[in-house]
Amino acid sequence: MKKLGALVLLLLVFASCGAAEIAQATETATTTATAIETTSTTTETTTTAMTTTTATTTATITTTSTATTAKPPDNAGSAYAWDYPGIAPAVAAVPKDPYLIYVSRDYALPANYSPSLRVCVEDYPEKIQMEATAAKQYKAMYDAAKAAGAELIPYSGYRSVERQKGNFDRLIQTNVNRGHSYAQAVNLAAQVILPPGCSEHSAGLAMDITRPGYWDTRVDFETTKEFTWLVAHAHEYGFILRYPKDKFVLTQITYEPWHWRYVGVGPATEMKKSGQCLEEYLGVG
Ligand SMILES: [Zn+2]
Repeated sequence: MKKLGALVLLLLVFASCGAAEIAQATETATTTATAIETTSTTTETTTTAMTTTTATTTATITTTSTATTAKPPDNAGSAYAWDYPGIAPAVAAVPKDPYLIYVSRDYALPANYSPSLRVCVEDYPEKIQMEATAAKQYKAMYDAAKAAGAELIPYSGYRSVERQKGNFDRLIQTNVNRGHSYAQAVNLAAQVILPPGCSEHSAGLAMDITRPGYWDTRVDFETTKEFTWLVAHAHEYGFILRYPKDKFVLTQITYEPWHWRYVGVGPATEMKKSGQCLEEYLGVG
């Protein structure tokens, strides 16, 4: 009887070991999504820490990666040559007028690109930054709009390359979860979020703008008085609507009424008059 009891006990131990192994296997299977979340959280923390520093802080775009995603991309040699299928950007040239730098899924920022940053509007708890001149111009635009009854809330300005990578990888994972192949998932993601190193946000020259009552970037921002004001006046401060509705073929990015790019007053005014997007104005894309 004692022997039988021991055998039962032994069987129970084996059974529970099996369950533990299965549980572990299941956990391994879900590691990808968890890892991406973890990366994102870490990056968020870093960014927050950075943005709460003083207005004159100079930040450097670092190129190291702490990626923990199961899929590629690892940094494959050059700073932004992440190994995403179908994404192989050349290094963007920095033009004489640095505010006309062209970055897209085909052109990545140079590895050592490090804009001097400045908080755009101090009135909000989250201290959103842009490149120093762009930030000053944003503040001037913000004040003018506010005087006209429109509140251009800074939602997302400068983003580190690491943060951009977290956003991009998360969207790829979402697309994979929806049943797309990895290559398809990357291609679809790149129509909505630019790959790391390829975003104007990492150059400090773009601002995603929102308004009171909105907690995110939304396409129906185009129906607001803030958007109407921007369309009429943003060029006076050097900003352009970077991804217009009818220019997808050229920009390769879907319509983003919230994303405004600083190019300087002269070029912005010329583009406003001609109706050209940045690709047309620069003769690229
Ligand atoms: Zn944006």
